[in-house]
Amino acid sequence: MLSNSLIEKDRAHYFHPVVPIRAHEERGVTVMQSGKGVFLTDSEGNELLDGFAGLWCVNAGYGHENVVAAAAEQMQRLPYATGYFHFGSEPAIELAAKLAELSPGDLDHVFFTLGGSDAVDTVIRMVRYYFNARGEGSKKHFIALEKGYHGSSSNGAGLTALPVFHDKFDLPMQWQHHIASPYPYRNEATSDAEIIAQGVANLKAKVAELGAEDTAAFIMELVQGSGGVIVPPEGYAKAMQDTCRELGILFIVDEVITGFGRTGPMFGCEHEGLTPDFLTTAKGLTSGYAPMGAVFVSDGVYQTIANAVPEGVPFGHGFTYSGHPVSAAVALEVIKLYEGGMIENSKKVGAYFEAQLKTLLDHPLVGDIRAKGLLAAVEIVTDKSTKTKPAKEMNVAARLAKAGYENGVIFRAFADDVIGLAPPICITETEVDLLMTRLRATLNTLL
Ligand code: PLP
Repeated sequence: MLSNSLIEKDRAHYFHPVVPIRAHEERGVTVMQSGKGVFLTDSEGNELLDGFAGLWCVNAGYGHENVVAAAAEQMQRLPYATGYFHFGSEPAIELAAKLAELSPGDLDHVFFTLGGSDAVDTVIRMVRYYFNARGEGSKKHFIALEKGYHGSSSNGAGLTALPVFHDKFDLPMQWQHHIASPYPYRNEATSDAEIIAQGVANLKAKVAELGAEDTAAFIMELVQGSGGVIVPPEGYAKAMQDTCRELGILFIVDEVITGFGRTGPMFGCEHEGLTPDFLTTAKGLTSGYAPMGAVFVSDGVYQTIANAVPEGVPFGHGFTYSGHPVSAAVALEVIKLYEGGMIENSKKVGAYFEAQLKTLLDHPLVGDIRAKGLLAAVEIVTDKSTKTKPAKEMNVAARLAKAGYENGVIFRAFADDVIGLAPPICITETEVDLLMTRLRATLNTLL
């Protein structure tokens, strides 16, 4: 049972990330106490099916003793080792090699961060360094997709295209640009091919406007997560990659959500055989058991950067906790779980999940269901034929989140009336059935 004093301490002192602050103070905090598999238990003893894997990160599910043991063993033997000054730790080295083996294309070099935002920031700095090294220092502009999310660091938040991450933060927006999201459900195009052609045309137009000689890179999520789980048509990302190559700009894929089995294969890039110049990961890398992110760098980019660093001078980018040995030990153990059956499970149960989810299309308020493996969204409308969004006064997102909790399921209720789903990839078909029952009951509370 959560004590009043804990609620009061939270209210008085815990400045939470990404919450409506005053509403949170009024409502009070919700605290989870334990987890096992896909289930969480809260401080009141309620058991909840975690349909969002924490913050789409606990891909392997909760309570894996082998992961806990690996962390404890590493903590006891050597809790910290730097990657600076020619030092390293065994788990960080093994993990870099493992990730290079698993990664698509020639992404053979791994730079460790603490999460996704600093992974995106790291890429921005490396891209700058790379073009300066090539004597193409005018290439400064970055292009991203509207509705994209690339973290909330002071640099990366500019690539993010969600208003709450910009408003009142005085972001210096001189070099971050956005082109339209493919958003198939709300796109006037009549075919996937048309959506893909639009994306290519928009990218070409933006590069023409900025000048190819001044444009550095294009970054995209393979499924736009925080923008409302927007799934581009198959072939979209490949067409954007080809366009980047044609225009002489770098292609960056942000797999912070889609990495590590979320959409089926280990990396989302595998769906279309993508070979980006940079790939960012975090979340599922450690399954949320410890903080860690990683930037995968192509061999060509790495060699250019390495050749440009003057003899005896360090490459001036890094964090105290880059390659933290405890996080690395956790990641190695989690990857064993992925390779030991969870990736296969994600592919198999992902297809079942998608099929089951589509049965909700018969619900009067469900306008769209979109999914890629175990990453999905349900978009609520009040009129299916006109795709009309519910009026703000209906407070749909807040009502859904509350009703979901009361029905024993946690999901992400986006402010624009979209339910985001991303259960742990170890979920079984029986658990998917339970998730569907609870989801339908939750949707029915809106009727
Ligand atoms: N990139 C994407 C696609 C994300 O979804 C997120 C977080 O949700 C980030 C970057 C930032 O990651 P973090 O919250 O670990 O800083």
